[in-house]
Amino acid sequence: MDVLVAGGAGFVGSHLCARLLKDGHRVLCVDNLLTGSERNIRPLLGQENFTFQRQDVIYPFAFDADAVFQLASPASPVGYWEHPFETIRVNTEGTMHLLRESQRCNARFLMASTSEAYGNPLVHPQTEDYWGNVNPTGPRSCYDESKRLGETITMEFHRQYNMDVRIVRIFNTYGPNSQLNDGRMIPNFIMQALSDEPVTVHGDGQQTRSICYVDDLVDGLMRAMFMPGTKGEIFNLGNPEEHTVLEWAGMIIKLCQSSSHILFEEKRVEDPERRRPDISKSQRVLDWRPTIDPETGLQRTIAWFRQEMEQSTSCLSATGHP
Ligand code: NAD
Ligand code: UDP
Repeated sequence: MDVLVAGGAGFVGSHLCARLLKDGHRVLCVDNLLTGSERNIRPLLGQENFTFQRQDVIYPFAFDADAVFQLASPASPVGYWEHPFETIRVNTEGTMHLLRESQRCNARFLMASTSEAYGNPLVHPQTEDYWGNVNPTGPRSCYDESKRLGETITMEFHRQYNMDVRIVRIFNTYGPNSQLNDGRMIPNFIMQALSDEPVTVHGDGQQTRSICYVDDLVDGLMRAMFMPGTKGEIFNLGNPEEHTVLEWAGMIIKLCQSSSHILFEEKRVEDPERRRPDISKSQRVLDWRPTIDPETGLQRTIAWFRQEMEQSTSCLSATGHP
């Protein structure tokens, strides 16, 4: 199949492109490199079935595809705080343009939404039929609300034109190719622990997160896109193993064999207190569940970060620049 991946040079997108190529698809990766990097797709650039197009999906552009993954959007709080208007526009206008062109070429469509669509949830664990507890004007709203509107737009294309769409709500995901400096919990904790610097825990660290290894997520995305019975459906994709932020910090310090201590810092505004996906629907319809336990996934991720940090240190000493 011809598959377009919007946001394909990002963390998740680069893994998805690699998986699609491995499965024999032709991939058009479209990205404006706002928060992604060509480095993530460097190993794919020489492959016959892979094309990269630098393109801002906020603006309409023509394509022909059998399937379209809409992953383009800043994803980390630091990323969307730096780019609030870009975030709003890509999740709404960008999603709309991609849907219009997908409709023209009769492509199936997947919208990458987020667990943030549930806001600071009052239902725990979160099921797909929960409508969420979201502040429409708060500091996280540019992300939460634009993803929610992106979901609405996607569903209207399904309702009005019977388009073959699905929505996935992605919960915190980690792995190689994450941005080193996007301020997220796992990259921060690993970088700090590997440098034996204090590990910065926000608030008292009792807020919880459930983290999913990227290969598991990509497998879920593939199933949601290509399996029968997914048209017009919404799926949670995430690992239901839930721990406090403080517990994740402790686990990472141990796995890095680090001498770091915990440094408690100010809590982020409107930080969701608890987050854990209910994945029974994805298990039932997609026959999907995460297979990589956090310890194994974190070990792989730590190995990748170690390599990245060593490379950037050797580049710095080679150039002599600080
Ligand atoms: P990422 O920032 O690494 O990747 C997003 C990509 O989209 C980047 O390469 C960026 O340059 C590109 N992009 C942004 N605006 C664009 C535009 N206007 N036109 C073209 N490209 C644009 O983030 P990620 O972690 O890979 O997330 C991918 C998707 O999954 C996002 O939609 C995000 O909201 C969603 N998601 C991710 C997580 C997670 O834990 N990583 C959790 C929930 C949802
Ligand atoms: N966090 C933390 N220290 C950090 C980075 C993040 O304690 O250096 C906390 C953050 O406040 C939140 C959780 O870890 O409670 C997850 O944050 P992340 O940025 O990964 O994404 P979120 O789940 O909030 O979108």
